[in-house]
Amino acid sequence: MTQPTPITIAHGDGIGPEIMDATLRVLAAAGAQLKIETIEIGQRVYERGVKGGIEDSAWESLRRTKVFLKAPITTPQGGGFKSLNVTVRTALGLYANVRPCVAYPPFVATKHPEMDVVIVRENEEDTYSGIEYQPTAQVTECLKLITRPGSEKIVRYAFEYARANGRRKVTCFTKDNIMKMTDGLFHRVFEEIGGEYPDIEKEHWIVDIGAAKLADKPEVFDVVVLPNLYGDILSDVAAQIAGSVGLAGSGNIGDQAAMFEAIHGSAPRRAGQNLANPSGLLLGGVMMLAHIGQTEAASRAHNAFLRTLEDGIHTYDIFQDGISKQRVGTKEFADAIIARVGQKPDRLKAPQYRANPRREQPAAPPAAPQKALAGVDVYLDWSAGSAEQLAKKLQPLSHDGLTFTLLTNRGAKVWPNGQPETFCTDHWRARFLAPDGKAATAAQIVALLERVNAAGLEFVQTANLYHFDGESGYSGVGGA
Ligand code: NAD
Repeated sequence: MTQPTPITIAHGDGIGPEIMDATLRVLAAAGAQLKIETIEIGQRVYERGVKGGIEDSAWESLRRTKVFLKAPITTPQGGGFKSLNVTVRTALGLYANVRPCVAYPPFVATKHPEMDVVIVRENEEDTYSGIEYQPTAQVTECLKLITRPGSEKIVRYAFEYARANGRRKVTCFTKDNIMKMTDGLFHRVFEEIGGEYPDIEKEHWIVDIGAAKLADKPEVFDVVVLPNLYGDILSDVAAQIAGSVGLAGSGNIGDQAAMFEAIHGSAPRRAGQNLANPSGLLLGGVMMLAHIGQTEAASRAHNAFLRTLEDGIHTYDIFQDGISKQRVGTKEFADAIIARVGQKPDRLKAPQYRANPRREQPAAPPAAPQKALAGVDVYLDWSAGSAEQLAKKLQPLSHDGLTFTLLTNRGAKVWPNGQPETFCTDHWRARFLAPDGKAATAAQIVALLERVNAAGLEFVQTANLYHFDGESGYSGVGGA
């Protein structure tokens, strides 16, 4: 007999308590061995003035169990409240957002009957690090951070997930034809780590055409791993086109802890009427069972759920005349699933949960590269004339081993040999480089900034330019 696994649950708001009750009854009937601790989150906690929607005492339970099954909550409008999901995700380091998007034809209406895609979205980095600036009156910017350890963790998770769930292919989407350094790193890590999983096919698509293909022929994809922003957008697209937004569950996974939930919200207008479909939270719960190694109970619960869909026992949101046989409430839907524990679906694909294989030992990290300072990009706030006029002011500042070589505006080269048609804002980048083969020094950069200042120019930002093992650590003009 499996030892009960301690987990933390929260009943949430709106339909949350009803779908949580249904979910827990089904998981127990399927043989889940759980030691449940309950915490309070959401509306009432926010109303007590707790900005993050979760009390300190609740953290204690989460840190102890490290597994959180969470019903949806109602997020208060305005008033400086923080999203609970963002709070929990950041605090517990939940780097992977996993969302299976499955069609259930003909039992749930869908245009893509063969769709069975799992989106694995990086959850902590990219433009979501929240580092933004307004350096000039006309320009705003957002720092996109893609790190090697962050990319390694999510890519390895995607391959491990594929292996543990009997999946055959992992696809990576990036825009590395444009963002050669950031998305290029994510893609490179995908190729490196993919090489450690010869049993799993791997492929890469540029995200624009990949997204179009996903929306048109989702059945050709299996597991898809993406950086945060593309993953945020495409996981919603995938859930929507599967036709099962109300039925999808998701997992937020970290090295230390994990959180599982439905992807829908608290549907306040349906609350307390025994109407809500509990499937999204139930499937989140099934993912949780697989995550904690209770794979047999996970399969039993999932199979009984599929069998119930096949038998035409449907809640109001998926009820279709001619296909559905019985319209039921939340409780009765759970009862029907429980009555089918031990049965398998006839037509829908039975899930395949395997015990997590031994985690592949990551390859030894590459030796730290040789880092050399090559120069500096100095950003200027300037609106007193043309590119040529600004270049004339910058040329005399070349001195002491740093030479002015390039002026750009919004990334477009405007000097030397700029085009007069190029539209320019008040935000300019002037590049100063050490001669080929020579290193620059921090003291040279400080002296340069003093010369810029003394020339009456306003520098608003600087970015040091480095070489790593002789390879350029900065983009050229137009990303080239
Ligand atoms: P929602 O997902 O709650 O509801 C959207 C629509 O889907 C509604 O018509 C609703 O009746 C229906 N619906 C949703 N879940 C259903 C279910 N299980 N069974 C049957 N019908 C269902 O989205 P919303 O109305 O935009 O948001 C309501 C509240 O939920 C908001 O406060 C929002 O901030 C919050 N929310 C929370 C989470 C979360 O806790 N993870 C996620 C999304 C939204």
